[in-house]
Amino acid sequence: MAAGLVAEAGLSTLLVEREKVPRYHIGESLMPECYWPLQRLGVLDRMKNSPFVKKKSVQFVAASGKESAPFYFEQHDPRECSTTWQVERAEFDKMLWDRAAELGAECHDETRVLDVLIDEETDTCTGVKLRAGDGPSRTIAARVVMDGSGLQSIIANKLGLREEIPSLKKAAIWSYFRHAKRDEGDNAGATIIMHTLNKDSWFWFIPLQDDVTSIGCVGDYDYMLKSGMSPEERFQLELQRCPGLQSRLQQAEQIDKVRVAREYSYWTRQPAGNGWVLIGDAFGFIDPLYSSGVYFALITGQWAAEAVIDGFRKGDLSARQLGSWCEDFRRGSSLIHKLVQAFYTKEFSFGGFIRNHPEYRSNLTDLLIGRIFYDGAERIFDRMDPEVAQARMAAANE
Ligand SMILES: Cc1cc2nc3c(=O)[nH]c(=O)nc-3n(C[C@H](O)[C@H](O)[C@H](O)COP(=O)(O)OP(=O)(O)OC[C@H]3O[C@@H](n4cnc5c(N)ncnc54)[C@H](O)[C@@H]3O)c2cc1C
Repeated sequence: MAAGLVAEAGLSTLLVEREKVPRYHIGESLMPECYWPLQRLGVLDRMKNSPFVKKKSVQFVAASGKESAPFYFEQHDPRECSTTWQVERAEFDKMLWDRAAELGAECHDETRVLDVLIDEETDTCTGVKLRAGDGPSRTIAARVVMDGSGLQSIIANKLGLREEIPSLKKAAIWSYFRHAKRDEGDNAGATIIMHTLNKDSWFWFIPLQDDVTSIGCVGDYDYMLKSGMSPEERFQLELQRCPGLQSRLQQAEQIDKVRVAREYSYWTRQPAGNGWVLIGDAFGFIDPLYSSGVYFALITGQWAAEAVIDGFRKGDLSARQLGSWCEDFRRGSSLIHKLVQAFYTKEFSFGGFIRNHPEYRSNLTDLLIGRIFYDGAERIFDRMDPEVAQARMAAANE
């Protein structure tokens, strides 16, 4: 996203990726608001003509197995962006990579950034050290480095800017299944979020192409990985403890190995410096729960690219210029963070909250869509914050 837009503006742009493209990645369910950055990049037609499964809703299933009514994006606000996609990331990311090349970026895969070079005297980024394949390391001078290295977060690690989010010390275990049962009609492509018994963990159910479904389980790190069970055993046990999955998996077969991600939630203290800026997961990652990661990567890529282009125009590549969009982003993304924290408060019930306060249903759907960057998006928390706090207090007093 970022490389494409910067190159389109006529700036000499180098995009490097350490893996061979296309490469596997988790993060398959898109939020509807991805529509706008994808439109900005000029890839909407490719998305519409792609075989990616169309996603029109999200649905929640309680620990008891009781299913909520699906949140249909279209019902809330009938617009073209109300349909989004469930994507195989290898194909999706390759499409973005190709688009960056079309727009003029020089793209090199199997090329690893070894270091980001920061001049100590001027506190300014001067370029990167990288290695292509098994070749020698080389230094590349650059006026700006945009760090989109995902959870590797090269610059934040180098400068000690990472802040873990202790309340979100989680782990995920997932795999792929064929012939898992999907709903009929408009809910067929839904992302379904299902609690396990006692809300000890939750599953995602993401329908992909060729009747394959991505099914993954998220829980506290110690519970998932430190209880003496292997990830495979923990995954099997949680499958059995998930009432919502029982009927869906009756005819299903697991077709891939079990994969694990751990301790991925963190934030960075400083999103930009002189000549550098962080985007996507390299800036921070909250939690897989609401599928916000790819949208955040796209929108930060777009906003950071606009700040870079503007900075070159003005001759200002300072931290303040390159990070000029970050406060808006922090404000909006903090709403998703709050929603995540509410979900992980065992004693708080989303279903109960919406039943008691139906006036917030459309506000909540906005958040689930990713429409979070407007004044008023935070309204729901006037009510939800005290109720979550009360639920936590009640639990603490038990
Ligand atoms: C368990 C789990 C489930 C998730 N599910 C969803 C979901 O359903 N929907 C959603 O939207 N998000 C989801 N996410 C989040 C999503 O995966 C990320 O937010 C998203 O991929 C971020 O994109 P990015 O471009 O910032 O980073 P990435 O997609 O991680 O890309 C970073 C790239 O940088 C490359 N790289 C790293 N270091 C170097 C280096 N030194 N030199 C060169 N290249 C390097 C990596 O190889 C990688 O290809 C999930 C995350 C987890 C952990």
